[in-house]
Amino acid sequence: MNPEAKSRILEGLNKRQEQAVLATDGPVLIVAGAGSGKTKTLTHKVAYLVASGVPAHSIVCLTFTNKAADEMKRRILNLLGGETNLPFMGTFHKFALSILKKHCATLGFSLPLSIYDESESLTLMRHALQSGGGETGQSDAAARVLSKISRIKNGREIVEQGIEAVPQTLRQAFDTYESLLKQKNAVDFDNIILHALSLAKNHPDILANLQSRFRYFLIDEFQDTNSPQYALVKLIARAHTNICVVGDDWQSIYSFRCADFTHLLRFEQEWPGTRVFFLEQNYRSTQTILDASHGVIAQNAYRTEKRLFTEHAGGNQIVVARLADERMEAWWIMERIAEKLKQGCALGDCAVLFRTNVQSRVFEELCMERAIPYQIVGAYRFWQRKEIQDALAYLKCIANPKDSVSMERIINVPKRGIGPGAIQTIKNTGWDIEQAAQKLSLKIGGAAQKFAASMAFFRDSAKTMPLPELIETILAKIGYREWCDPETEQGAERWDNVQELIGLARAYPNEPAALSLGQFLESVQLVQDTDRMQTGTNVLTLMTLHSAKGLEFPIVFIAGVEEGILPHERSLRSPDDIEEERRLLYVGMTRAKNDLFLTCAQHRFIHGEYSANEPSRFLNDIPESLIERVDQGILSSLYDSENTIYL
Ligand code: ATP
Ligand code: MG
Repeated sequence: MNPEAKSRILEGLNKRQEQAVLATDGPVLIVAGAGSGKTKTLTHKVAYLVASGVPAHSIVCLTFTNKAADEMKRRILNLLGGETNLPFMGTFHKFALSILKKHCATLGFSLPLSIYDESESLTLMRHALQSGGGETGQSDAAARVLSKISRIKNGREIVEQGIEAVPQTLRQAFDTYESLLKQKNAVDFDNIILHALSLAKNHPDILANLQSRFRYFLIDEFQDTNSPQYALVKLIARAHTNICVVGDDWQSIYSFRCADFTHLLRFEQEWPGTRVFFLEQNYRSTQTILDASHGVIAQNAYRTEKRLFTEHAGGNQIVVARLADERMEAWWIMERIAEKLKQGCALGDCAVLFRTNVQSRVFEELCMERAIPYQIVGAYRFWQRKEIQDALAYLKCIANPKDSVSMERIINVPKRGIGPGAIQTIKNTGWDIEQAAQKLSLKIGGAAQKFAASMAFFRDSAKTMPLPELIETILAKIGYREWCDPETEQGAERWDNVQELIGLARAYPNEPAALSLGQFLESVQLVQDTDRMQTGTNVLTLMTLHSAKGLEFPIVFIAGVEEGILPHERSLRSPDDIEEERRLLYVGMTRAKNDLFLTCAQHRFIHGEYSANEPSRFLNDIPESLIERVDQGILSSLYDSENTIYL
């Protein structure tokens, strides 16, 4: 390797990080606490491999979010000094989907595949239960069954026992649901991984092909991989054993998606000859923040031993504030932010983190009232909005005429007068609108026939029109703008969102939509909450603790550090779940570089009722010497002349 490139890549790494980068071949485990440069080391390692001449296409770097992959790509390009081919970098789902697409015919699928999100999967499960007869087919029954099946599909047993992992009581629902997916040439999120795994496991030629192509695996946030994900990589990587994983068992926070941090703890046994690197210097936080977060995590029984040090000795005390209610809490946090801004900090330096999405509402209201620019990550579900789902459903039907779930969604959206008789006929044809249109008489089926003609027209247009134009054509022809009613505030917002979708479609090549539609839908389906987060812009970030993984901010507020919220009430009965909640708080605390504020409210209006929560038990584990306490609970606020709200 050119010595200049080498020194550029290794520059700025500490000794341990450098050794971990240079350990290019064979199994490598980098296990370290928060902020110790795990992600940085992995980034430099990918750059180092490419610079050493390893073909980029043989490297796979798996990240927890698309956003993290994008950030890594940017840094790698920087380290490599500009344009170069980059390896595969992205989530497990993206990687597995690329395998599935290439070999889908082996499993009886064709391209383009439809990828069903949660709501589409739910519709399908409802159909599965209805056709099974026994169940009611109500949405809550369907949601329960779907969630049970999803847990199984993400768990260890399915890897070890295959279909036998599905208990008899769920077997019929499972089989029907899976065969419906197959009929519709569709996969749900879980199946993306499971199908790729089954291709690698049951087809030696495909496995050999994957093994000859992918020779280096690097995995960030390894503590949060689940069994099917890891099994897929293990199968491919065992041919070359170049697998480098990076993780922190203290930060495992996705067990509700069957993440299993024992993969990290068992890695050395599973991969003989593993070289292990411990990174102990933290570059992110002050010593006070490190000690406080260590105090919290140290109470967990099931964990490895680690200790971090930093050169940022001392640092500001951790502020623990008790406020009267959730509105006072938000108000108090906004006051602290205003103070920080006066001291010269930027709004973009601040983040408010919370356990549950609903907590964001009061902050949003205050931001709007005070004209404070903000972004919500993890709660603002652009892709789940009705108007976006509607527009996408049209595109999905155009891409995949077998996609009956999307057809069912749009059949009367906007209302086009297709009556119950016609709907029944369409249903009987498996939502094949064109077939149904031929069967229907003009009297009952006039509207359906018109709609079938529109769909045929859209499908034809896709062969010539670029994607943004196609979307505009669809919206105009179906009268979606009028249906949104942009004269009302809500309608205007809907229409704006649809315009944003068209804007996003403009990023795709200017070619007939039929060529880019598959790629567009695929990227849309794999989208995550964090994708739309802006970095480097000067706005306040409001986000859930789960989405904050891997990020850092100079000033962090964690709101609602209360019993019932953090730890969450659902976790209170299980010691393992409490440990996970503790890790979640640990992740939140270790996002902070300089200042950390933890707040709790005495009373809280949540889920439509008032509750009175005690401060979180986790707060007791922070050494008192590190804490500055603020108490503005209900009694003190009554006597506090400044707190006019309560006087
Ligand atoms: P997390 O556990 O939260 O994912 P991490 O271990 O992945 O954290 P990074 O995000 O890679 O840590 O690094 C944390 C911060 O420390 C970043 O701002 C990074 O640039 C900085 N950093 C890491 N290593 C060094 C180093 N050797 N010298 C200077 N800064 C460093
Ligand atoms: Mg990281």
